[in-house]
Amino acid sequence: MMMGDQKATKQLTSLGVAEARAGLAAGQFTSVALPTACLERIERVDATLHAFLRTTPDEALAAASQADRERASGDARPLLGIPIAIKDVLMTTGIETTAGSRILRGFVPPYSATAVQKLQAAGAIILGKTNTDEFAMGSSTENSGFGPTRNPWDPERVPGGSSGGSAAAVAADEAPAALGTDTGGSVRQPASFCGIVGLKPSYGRVSRYGLIAYGSSLDQIGPITKTVTDAALILELIAGADPHDSTTMPVNAPDLSAALTGDIEGMRIGIPEEYFVEGIQPEVEDAVRTAIDHFASLGAEIVPIGLPNTELALPVYYLVVTAEASANLARYDGIRFGLSVDGDSIFDHFRQTRGAGFGPEVKRRIMLGTYALSAGYYDAYYLKAQQVRTLIKQDFDRAFTDVDVILSPTSPTTAFRIGEKVDDPLAMILTDIFTTSANLAGLCGISVPCGFDAGGLPIGLQLLGPSLGEEKILRSAYAYEQSTEWRLRRPVL
Ligand code: GLN
Repeated sequence: MMMGDQKATKQLTSLGVAEARAGLAAGQFTSVALPTACLERIERVDATLHAFLRTTPDEALAAASQADRERASGDARPLLGIPIAIKDVLMTTGIETTAGSRILRGFVPPYSATAVQKLQAAGAIILGKTNTDEFAMGSSTENSGFGPTRNPWDPERVPGGSSGGSAAAVAADEAPAALGTDTGGSVRQPASFCGIVGLKPSYGRVSRYGLIAYGSSLDQIGPITKTVTDAALILELIAGADPHDSTTMPVNAPDLSAALTGDIEGMRIGIPEEYFVEGIQPEVEDAVRTAIDHFASLGAEIVPIGLPNTELALPVYYLVVTAEASANLARYDGIRFGLSVDGDSIFDHFRQTRGAGFGPEVKRRIMLGTYALSAGYYDAYYLKAQQVRTLIKQDFDRAFTDVDVILSPTSPTTAFRIGEKVDDPLAMILTDIFTTSANLAGLCGISVPCGFDAGGLPIGLQLLGPSLGEEKILRSAYAYEQSTEWRLRRPVL
């Protein structure tokens, strides 16, 4: 390995997980070379992008030389020596974890999230923790308590959110892959804005143990990757029942690589008319419609479907998610974790700590959620929202009796400008129109690149599948990816 050779370094950082694994197995480079190249790249571009809140170079390099020794003695674990970036809402033993919030500054968890543990058990190396909207509340990463992340395709624009740090890191070749979390779109939408792949698993597919809770009935951890193959590989490794999370489903991790055949002959793809409405950026609609024709040319059957309760998804999502957030965030009291600001009494201590530690969007959501749950309003808001949630789920149950997957844009627009929507919470919320339903209904979904707008910004399409239907969305996403060339265009930094 020609260390320090710019060209070699650049090639190494452009590798995805499967490619890095093949290169390591063939002895083309060492494990140490991988985090070394990533850290050099981070050094060069992250002052602009701010995808990472912190890196762990010493631990990463030590783990990499360990991996090289293990490989030499016959260890063939699938991720042995491969660096992965971790969204900062996932707990990591001994590594500060803040969820993008000042209230958790200095918090060093005593254990790692199950998903992180599983990646490490497969040999992966933690490269660092990526920026996020505070407690994953947002769609642009501008709500981070530590400053925004910028989009590698245009640093004046947002990378999407809330997993914007993870998406920017992967798109900018700072990491071969990353973990994100998706409560209402936070894996899929930033993947779409950054021109890469983001997979939200079915609710219950991946353990939430060690994920700092936002909306517990909606949260899922998912891979953010350069390729569909890598998304399948990582999901296989992190999936499965976990005694620490009673909402995980009692099913084994699936063999998803078998789905990556490129063959979608006869597959039925539903197109929901409600998702092609006014307000979509015309270039996004054009790109997605062109992609639909492409799927047809691959032998899929295109089937118009109706999801009549679509317009209720955003109001229902924002009632449910704020209610759950208000309960989940009650634990940040200045006593147990992170920031602690003295007050005149115990209640004043809570007030001072929470007043100083939480940012404006988090406070707004705690207030909205507390209101929706309060006596007298519970029936009118929270209970009603749960009932409508069932109707939304039934829309999908009905649709999936007829089609294998559902195709739509991931987001109504490409990446917007930093500052454009951050002071207008309603405008920000509207960007989640196509992604929140999947979380409400417990479905799986994936975003894959499907084009570029006139300004050169990536466009993503979303494929939704039924609960535990990951095999179907991966099969169709892979066939599309392999027969198009969108993934070959990379941002220039
Ligand atoms: N933008 C949505 C929200 O703010 C979704 C965020 C997420 O998926 N974590 O709630």
